[in-house]
Amino acid sequence: MKLVFATNNRHKLEEISAIIGDKIEILGLNDIGCHDDIPETADTFEGNALLKARYVKNKYEYDCFADDTGLQVEALNGEPGVYSARYAGEPSDSEKNIDKLLANLRDAENRKASFVTCIALVTGSEEHVFYGEISGKIIRERRGSSGFGYDSVFVPEGYEETFAEMGEEEKNKISHRARAVKKLSDFFNTL
Ligand code: IMP
Repeated sequence: MKLVFATNNRHKLEEISAIIGDKIEILGLNDIGCHDDIPETADTFEGNALLKARYVKNKYEYDCFADDTGLQVEALNGEPGVYSARYAGEPSDSEKNIDKLLANLRDAENRKASFVTCIALVTGSEEHVFYGEISGKIIRERRGSSGFGYDSVFVPEGYEETFAEMGEEEKNKISHRARAVKKLSDFFNTL
């Protein structure tokens, strides 16, 4: 069985192939000759993941799954949400995004936030969505140097370290993305 993961990110492809195992061959967009700038114009994670997966299914006929991820901050009414990558404008710049986030939260006592990943799977006959989420809080200053995005200001619930202090291996055990991927993998195991 072949399945497309609508991404060009090698790291994501390898990570997911390792979890899904041998019975499904996971192809990236490059592997099917798709170099299109696939629209991500929805205002929810699920909407964007479905847009990407449906686009590939309709144009290339491969069954496909796609993901969309972001940070939701309670005191900012769920911002930056689907705009997490380009919160401080384009081109995407993680340091500027963090600066904007910390500035917007300067006076906020409520620091609660969560990372959310939605994976949408589109086959010929069915659509499924899988969510992974991790709750935590946004601290006032950056700590740690591993990871990417907002990792240096996010402390997951039940931990003292930020994602950026934790290191990749430990983060991957509890992350939003790992939780969504696990649900996708469990789904394939029931087929
Ligand atoms: P993407 O949909 O996986 O590209 O994620 C969109 C944006 O959300 C990224 O550009 C980051 O700013 C942020 N983000 C997603 N996952 C993480 C994470 O694990 N740590 C920190 N930031 C993340």
